[in-house]
Amino acid sequence: MSDGPPVRLEIRGLTKSFYDVPAIDEVDFDLVGGEVHGLLGENGAGKSTLCSVLAGLYRPDAGEIRLDGEVLHLRSPHDASRHGIGMVYQHFRLVESFTVAENIVLGLGRDALGRGGLRQVEQRVAELAERFGLAVHPAAPVWQLSVGEQQRVEILRQLYRGARILILDEPTAVLAPHEAERLFEAVGQMTEGGHAVVLVSHKLQEILGHTDRVTVLRGGRNVGVGVTAELTPTSLARLMFGVGDDAPTVHEHRHDPPGEPVLALTDLHVQGDRGVPAVQGVSLTVRRGEIVGVAGVAGNGQRELQEAIAGLRPATGAVHIAGADCSDGDVRARAAAGLAYVPEDRLGGALAPGLPLDHNMALKSYDRPPNSQRGVLSASSIRSGAAKLAEAFDVRGARDGMPVSFMSGGNLQKAILARELTAPHEVLLAAAPTRGLDMGAAAAVREHVLDERDAGRGVLLFSEDLAEVLELADVVLVMFHGRIVGSFTKQEIDLERIGLLMTGGVTSGSNTVAP
Ligand code: ADP
Ligand code: MG
Repeated sequence: MSDGPPVRLEIRGLTKSFYDVPAIDEVDFDLVGGEVHGLLGENGAGKSTLCSVLAGLYRPDAGEIRLDGEVLHLRSPHDASRHGIGMVYQHFRLVESFTVAENIVLGLGRDALGRGGLRQVEQRVAELAERFGLAVHPAAPVWQLSVGEQQRVEILRQLYRGARILILDEPTAVLAPHEAERLFEAVGQMTEGGHAVVLVSHKLQEILGHTDRVTVLRGGRNVGVGVTAELTPTSLARLMFGVGDDAPTVHEHRHDPPGEPVLALTDLHVQGDRGVPAVQGVSLTVRRGEIVGVAGVAGNGQRELQEAIAGLRPATGAVHIAGADCSDGDVRARAAAGLAYVPEDRLGGALAPGLPLDHNMALKSYDRPPNSQRGVLSASSIRSGAAKLAEAFDVRGARDGMPVSFMSGGNLQKAILARELTAPHEVLLAAAPTRGLDMGAAAAVREHVLDERDAGRGVLLFSEDLAEVLELADVVLVMFHGRIVGSFTKQEIDLERIGLLMTGGVTSGSNTVAP
């Protein structure tokens, strides 16, 4: 199919910002036909953005894309497709009620069917499927297909359009292990035929096992390119997590030895939204005067665990808050026992987006004096209480009657902290508390977290930002595949090892936690 010299893609200085924040920043990237090129990076590193620019979905702010020496100005995915670049997105774009063949020609225009009609399309799809080991039934309606089969349809759709460069964005995220193996076999067939494949992943082992070269992105920048065979898990983790160059600030260790437990989880099991086990036997303890940080790549059960601790999601196992058995308690019971909760999702999770700030500040106390007396709400008390909290926590940008959804992320986060931390509590559960905040707001939030510890309360901190966990936590736990797989005191911290545990690169040895 692919004759002539192998396709050659050269990217120089590619930059793309969203709201003035660069998602990719002067990125160089090279790709040649016949190779599987891994694109590795933590969540938010810019992988999808780089791919989406290549696929013509986003227009770059600066930089150059050259294909076989010719500069490309991609204005749409159709444009990219014309040049033989095809992308399979993390979320499929298939019409469920159409057949495989119909989906494959969808959008190709009237001539796509040709004289042979749909039959001929089906035959051609069957040939491609056979050649690349992407088994699907061309005449089957898409709604009948498994996720793995749907992914094969997406790939076939790009091959049908003549893609020579295939970009697969986190393709194994939706696949079971045996399906992933099948996918990698198909990828092998493609590169043998001269195609170039970009394999996007945040999983070290996958990149090490199935690519020829790898480019690592961190914070939107290309921080390294190498031949996979010459790389080790350690060297990759080092690039991925930035060990060595921008070492995180480390705060003084807690002053006093930690006190009694304020949060104890015993053998928690939690189901995810699709009924699969998301948390598989987590036990941990947070003591007074201690910050326990949970590091991990998103999607390893953190959200489900947080919700289970807060009482929002059913779980088996035991939850003790400040000594009280709250295993069967709901959200209110857990708050009453002493849990303050700052969820990942600010709007919706912690705030009523349509209500103004003063009402949101009173969400947990509107039914108590002074906010309400004998069942009558006091608007003036709610307003003055909110004003005091806003002042104390430096929450700005609220207007009378304006829904909080119009306020900035930093101010919303400070508002949530104000409400949660001024209510009586013994332990703070904070999930990604600085995500999306500017540096000033993030620093203020971190100060509040440290203050909690110094006041003798406990903190359980979840963050995808490894530097933040290392900066704040007295004990670092690593969560992977629904389990706590590693545990480090501040003295034991070993960044490379933590990086490896986060990506499943090691499962035994020092600081690992047996399942
Ligand atoms: P990755 O795929 O490596 O997880 P992304 O490319 O999705 O990373 O994101 C890189 C950064 O750009 C993140 O901070 C993300 O929040 C931001 N970002 C990505 N897409 C958009 C968008 N459409 N609008 C605003 N910000 C975005
Ligand atoms: Mg992505």
